[in-house]
Amino acid sequence: MAELDLSKKVADRYLKREVLGEGTYGVVYKAIDTQTGQTVAIKKIRLGKHKEGVNFTALREIKLLKELQYPHIIELIDSFPHKENLHLVFEFMETDLESVIRDRNIFLSPGDIKSYIQMTLNGLMFCHKKWVLHRDMKPNNLLIGSNGQLKLADFGLARIFGSPDRRFTHQVFARWYRAPELLFGTKQYGSGVDVWAAACIFAELLLRRPFLQGSSDIDQLGKIFAALGTPSPSQWPDMVYLPDYVEYQYVPAPPLRSLFPMASDDALDLLSKMFTYDPKVRISAQQAYFTSVPLPTDPDKLPRPTPKTEPKASDFDSHEGPTVISPPRKSRRVMPGRDGFEGNSLQRNKTDDNVSSSRQKAGDNTGKTDPAPMSLDFSVFGLKPPNRPTINSADKTHLKRKLDLEFLQPE
Ligand code: ADP
Repeated sequence: MAELDLSKKVADRYLKREVLGEGTYGVVYKAIDTQTGQTVAIKKIRLGKHKEGVNFTALREIKLLKELQYPHIIELIDSFPHKENLHLVFEFMETDLESVIRDRNIFLSPGDIKSYIQMTLNGLMFCHKKWVLHRDMKPNNLLIGSNGQLKLADFGLARIFGSPDRRFTHQVFARWYRAPELLFGTKQYGSGVDVWAAACIFAELLLRRPFLQGSSDIDQLGKIFAALGTPSPSQWPDMVYLPDYVEYQYVPAPPLRSLFPMASDDALDLLSKMFTYDPKVRISAQQAYFTSVPLPTDPDKLPRPTPKTEPKASDFDSHEGPTVISPPRKSRRVMPGRDGFEGNSLQRNKTDDNVSSSRQKAGDNTGKTDPAPMSLDFSVFGLKPPNRPTINSADKTHLKRKLDLEFLQPE
């Protein structure tokens, strides 16, 4: 009873305002802290039925965020149970990187892009130093405050790593940001998975659209290899031993410059090191920084997006990557089609069809023969950027179960 009274009292401290968004586990509200006058964001998480175990994910987020106090990581101000829900109180953030990337009124200079990526890498460096993997890096999980500071948010999928034998689920990250080792089913992985996702975000800032938009895991690998070349076993010796490894037809790596013609030399150099296939050789967040001018823009001078209006329609995208055409498992090969590549139509769902039909209009950066346009002029396409796929509901249920099991029985 005393506990209940206490939670009520704490809850009364916050004055609820409008809904800011809906997350995987619950609604996020804007609120005012009546004690400090500070605007906050409150994530309300259903505690759920005992067996659902939703609370373990929330508890993990709380536990990890308490360890991760750093300028480029979202601050968890408070957390408390109230009624049937767990409430996580965060510092309020004005916008996120996805809104910046999508805002067609914003011009991003090379210095602006460096600034966003440097802040992202700084946040990651701190996580990795504390042995935490974020595992859900994507532009809408990078929140931006009114002073332009970028902070890593949404630690619902984050995990402690570092123990050499620890095995994890590979069903993490939204597909477009998944590292190749995850797509090949590895259970033992490290901080490189976050660096790969950061590289995808870096590329997205340069292109102003998602770089590698796969419609299935196999298609995602096809898109990666079409854009960056098929890795050889000598380039990535452990690849052939990964659980879901399949052989893809060899595609030579096109010069990265052809995909990102406007990027500065040091940006391109860093990007190529972040996109290294072998996770053992991939650059770490700590080693990743820019070496030459232009310097990263001061965060408070970064361009601000206009107020959010969520685009709805799916629209343009890249064309298809290589397709698996031969039998499953080890003997599968992936063949490029004659005009660039053709997707595996059997794998496509309705959303993918929408995306791929609009792809033809937009051109693609992933096929080596057809580099993408560099500028963000959506009017050329007459369309808005595609909705991002995220972990689907089947994945989510599986993942939730898996994560909760991992939480209960850490290996
Ligand atoms: P998801 O589970 O879908 O990744 P979250 O639960 O973290 O997302 O958040 C859902 C939405 O709430 C976000 O897309 C964002 O719009 C908003 N949001 C989350 N945290 C904050 C914050 N600290 N400040 C402002 N808005 C936030």
